[in-house]
Amino acid sequence: MSRIAVIGAGPMGLACAYQFVRQGHAVTVFEADDRLGGMSASFDFDGVLLERYYHFINLPDTHLFDLLRELGLEDTLRWVPTKMGFFRRGKDGKARLHPYGNPLALLRFSDIPLFTRLRYGLHVLACKHLKDLSPLDAVSAKDWITRWEGPAGYDLFWRFLFEKKFFELADPLSAAWIASRVRRVAKSRKSLMEERLGYLEGGSQSLLDVLAGRIREMGGDVRLSCPARRLVHAGGRLTGVEWSEGVEAFDAAVSTVPLPLLDGLLPDSPPAYGEKLRQCRNVGCACALFRLGRPLTDNFWVNVDVDGWDAPGVIEYSNLRPMDRSYVYVPFYMPQDHPKWAADTATLLAKGREILAGINPAAAATEEAARLFRYTYAQPVCPPRFQAQLPPYATGIDGLYAADTAHAFPEDRSINESVRIGRELADLVG
Ligand SMILES: Cc1cc2nc3c(=O)[nH]c(=O)nc-3n(C[C@H](O)[C@H](O)[C@H](O)COP(=O)(O)OP(=O)(O)OC[C@H]3O[C@@H](n4cnc5c(N)ncnc54)[C@H](O)[C@@H]3O)c2cc1C
Repeated sequence: MSRIAVIGAGPMGLACAYQFVRQGHAVTVFEADDRLGGMSASFDFDGVLLERYYHFINLPDTHLFDLLRELGLEDTLRWVPTKMGFFRRGKDGKARLHPYGNPLALLRFSDIPLFTRLRYGLHVLACKHLKDLSPLDAVSAKDWITRWEGPAGYDLFWRFLFEKKFFELADPLSAAWIASRVRRVAKSRKSLMEERLGYLEGGSQSLLDVLAGRIREMGGDVRLSCPARRLVHAGGRLTGVEWSEGVEAFDAAVSTVPLPLLDGLLPDSPPAYGEKLRQCRNVGCACALFRLGRPLTDNFWVNVDVDGWDAPGVIEYSNLRPMDRSYVYVPFYMPQDHPKWAADTATLLAKGREILAGINPAAAATEEAARLFRYTYAQPVCPPRFQAQLPPYATGIDGLYAADTAHAFPEDRSINESVRIGRELADLVG
C-alpha cells in the first residue's frame, strides 16, 4: 500500500482517487475550494441545487456511463429530446430566432444562402463519421472549415463562435479539436431529426457526492478548503505535499489542477516539463445565470450572433431538466488578459440581461434572481499540433504525475473525459 496524494477534487481527481482506494492505496485528496467539483461544482440557488456552469451529457459519454454503473447511479441518468436555436440578424437587419440543429431547420434557414447551408450540413454529417482525427491534428480549423463550407460557411456558422470564445487566440485552432466537438454532438441523436441530451437527477453533484463518499468509506481522506501549496521533491523523487499544516509525506502524487496552476505548485519542475507547462493556454469563463418566471425560448441551446453581444450562445437549462422556473446561463469566455475579463459582476450581468431582453423582452422582464461565477482556467486553447505540445502525464519527477482537461484532446473537456483521464492516471501510478 502506498500513500498517494491527489490534488484537486473535480471529476478527474475524484475518479482517480476512487481508483486508488480500490487498488488498496491510502489516498488523501486536497481540494482548494470549499466544495467538490471544480468546473462541475454546484451551488444553492435559493433552495435549488444547480451547477455553477451549465452541464449536459452526450450519448457517446461511455466512460461516464461505466462509472455511473459501478457506483449504482445509472438509474439517475435522464435523456431528453432537446432543441437548438440560432439568434442572428437577417437580411432585413432584424435579429430573430431560427430553429437550428436538424436537417429540416437547416433547409428552412433562408437567411443563409442554400449552397452554404448544404455545404455546412454535409460537413457536419462527414464529421459524425470521422474515425481517426490524427490527420487533422496539424490543420487549422478555419482552413479546414473553409475547404468544406467555403468562406461564407466559416463566416456565417463559425466565426462568431470562435471569436467570442477565444478572441485573439481564435486563429489558429486545431481542426481535430473542432471535429471532435462536432462529432460528439452529432452522435448525441436518437435520429437525424432528434437530438438527445442527458443530465443526472440531482445534477453533477449527485455523482461527486457518491464518489467522495465511496473514497471516504474505503479509508480515503477528502479534504475541502485545503489547497496544496507546493509539491515537494528531493533527488528527483516526489516526497510530499506542502499545505497549511506543513509538509506531509507521500510516496506519490497526482495533480489534476489546471496546468497553469501546476506551474505555481512546482516552481522547480524539470526544465523541459516546465517549458511545456508554460505553453498551455486557457481561456476563462464568467458565466451569468438568470432565473426567470417564464421560458425564454423552447430551446436548450441558442447560438447568438449579434454584434456587440459578447456571449456565443445562451443555454436554457430548464429545457433539459424540468424545473418550475426557467434557468438561463449566459457564458462570457475570454482570455484572462482581455480587458473584459476585469469587468465586475454588475457589468457582466447587465450584458447578460441585454442579450436575454434582445431575444425575448417579455421573458427577460420576469427575472427573479441572477448570479455570476468565474472559472479562470475554463477551456484549454488547442492550436494545430497540440498533441505534441501537451506535457506527458509523467512530470519527470519520479512518483509525480499530472493532467488537466487539455489531456482530453482531441476531444473537448467534459466530465466523461476527466473520468477517463483520472482512471488512466491511477492505473499508471498504482
Ligand atoms: C462553462 C462550462 C460549461 C461546461 N459544460 C460541460 C458540459 O455540458 N458537459 C460536460 O461534460 N462538461 C462540461 N464542462 C467541463 C467540465 O466541467 C470539466 O471538464 C470537468 O469538470 C473538469 O474536471 P477536472 O477535475 O478535470 O478539472 P477541474 O474541474 O478544473 O478541477 C480541478 C480542481 O482542482 C482544484 N484546485 C486548484 N488548485 C488547487 C490547489 N492548489 N490545491 C488543491 N486543489 C486545487 C480546483 O478547485 C478544482 O476543484 C463545462 C465547463 C465549463 C467551465
